[in-house]
Amino acid sequence: MSKALVIDYEVLFHPSKRHKANALSQFAARDILYECPNCNEERVVTWMFPDVSFEFVDKCCGVKVVLLPKEEE
Ligand SMILES: [Zn+2]
Repeated sequence: MSKALVIDYEVLFHPSKRHKANALSQFAARDILYECPNCNEERVVTWMFPDVSFEFVDKCCGVKVVLLPKEEE
């Protein structure tokens, strides 16, 4: 297995626009905007529990990526 790539991202919506994600995470979920590390396409993903890192395979180009929690202000 290859190592996941740490990607930069911004928070689009907090809480998420997805009601089911909010229900499951008790409104911790956030919709995240990032760029595919392979082709720079804009991508959106729902991060259910933003206090823990989230590793997944980006369906755009199949790159394994990881979101790391940022320090809250
Ligand atoms: Zn891509």
